[in-house]
Amino acid sequence: MKITQGKINELLTETACEHNHHKQGQPKNKACSQQAQPGAAQGGCAFDGAMIALVPITDAAHLVHGPLACGGNSWGSRGSLSSGPELYKLGLTTDLTENDIIFGGEKRLYQSILEVQERYNPSAIFVYATCVTALIGDDFDAVCKKASEKLGMPVIPVNSPGFTGTKNLGNRIAGEFLLEYVIGTAEPPDQTPYDINLIGEYNIAGEMWNVLPLFEKLGIRVLSKMTGDARYQEICYAHRAKLNVMICSKALLNVARKMEERYGIPYIEESFYGIEDVNNCLRHIAEKIGDDDLKQRVENLIAEETAKLDIELAPYRAKLKNKRVVLYTGGVKSWSIISAARDLGMKVVATSTKKSTAEDKAKIRVLLGEDGIMMEKGNAQELLKVIAQTHAEMLIAGGRNQYTALKAKIPFLDINQERHHAYAGYQGLVELAKELEETLYSPIWEQVRKPAPWEEFVVHRVIV
Ligand code: SF4
Repeated sequence: MKITQGKINELLTETACEHNHHKQGQPKNKACSQQAQPGAAQGGCAFDGAMIALVPITDAAHLVHGPLACGGNSWGSRGSLSSGPELYKLGLTTDLTENDIIFGGEKRLYQSILEVQERYNPSAIFVYATCVTALIGDDFDAVCKKASEKLGMPVIPVNSPGFTGTKNLGNRIAGEFLLEYVIGTAEPPDQTPYDINLIGEYNIAGEMWNVLPLFEKLGIRVLSKMTGDARYQEICYAHRAKLNVMICSKALLNVARKMEERYGIPYIEESFYGIEDVNNCLRHIAEKIGDDDLKQRVENLIAEETAKLDIELAPYRAKLKNKRVVLYTGGVKSWSIISAARDLGMKVVATSTKKSTAEDKAKIRVLLGEDGIMMEKGNAQELLKVIAQTHAEMLIAGGRNQYTALKAKIPFLDINQERHHAYAGYQGLVELAKELEETLYSPIWEQVRKPAPWEEFVVHRVIV
């Protein structure tokens, strides 16, 4: 499948995305429809975005057709975990050299695909284009087709070179390839009225494993996970689900919308962070696919889990109560984490709204109250200013901001994709409370805030 300018425009203006709606006389969010300028791929190019969305398919091989650095660029940067195959973790690349760039890399790509199949026998091979292979004009699709016919297995050309745009666009392009080459190509062994798909859940730090047992208890079957801890085959029969549940992400919204158009599967957007959000997610699923019996089971489960949670959270709540927090993250998480922090009795005094939709912002305003600060812009300087202004005692943000927290001499908690702890679901909230308590009460902060020995010496000399 060729990614044309028309296709890019379609993905950038995805009709199901709130960003692309005119709301209350407000113009559309320009950032969505603007293509990245050269050099603006910092923070993730379209190739990177496509890999983020597809690499969690654990039993497939992921082969990068390009120079070594492209593969190394994003390899291992996300902590998507697997309950079985580990093949997805292998960094496979055609490792193009100057010679290939002059004479073309098609032969090398073909040989690499054959070698990957022989060595690892994957369920499928996803082959990723990069800027270099797109610019030298390798006929990527033809090579993958030929290799697929020879091997009798799916070889999927993911044509999302970095210069096409940002990481988010790459996510959507990956979704298009799933729709084109994978979804609807096989039938599930059996079907139930309670089959759902989870879309946009990548099982970072094993978060999905906090939630799957809840579905199991309720008799809801997760037919296909896109793509955390997924097997290739389960995505092939995703078209037989009764409901698509989008998790904390607008990135694969095009997949949900098109599955509704093609297969008549409705979709809902949910979050797994915080008690209220998990409760709502379960209730909404039951409303969409369930009968009165399922709805009752959901209410019983919520009552049971929240009662258990109250006991487990009590010691943490006592220590976290009224602690002031600045939150700096993106999209849906900018409100879903506020809700989780409030469950713990903490006070979020400011949050970022840079990547939030009008709907997200409305939720944030209600959760933050009138005094809460909504940060449209975000950089270290701005964050330091807000931390000082609000007397925040902690920063919850992505890994890149940990040094900002250190400069402000306050504790920091990593909430983005690099995190090593699972915060989703009811049990995730206990984990979050534990991490927050440990970092807030770490004895290191007392030492960090003391004047340095040489500063004490200077003060002493001046007094003498
Ligand atoms: S695909 Fe392009 S932008 Fe992305 S890492 Fe490779 S060279 Fe850089």
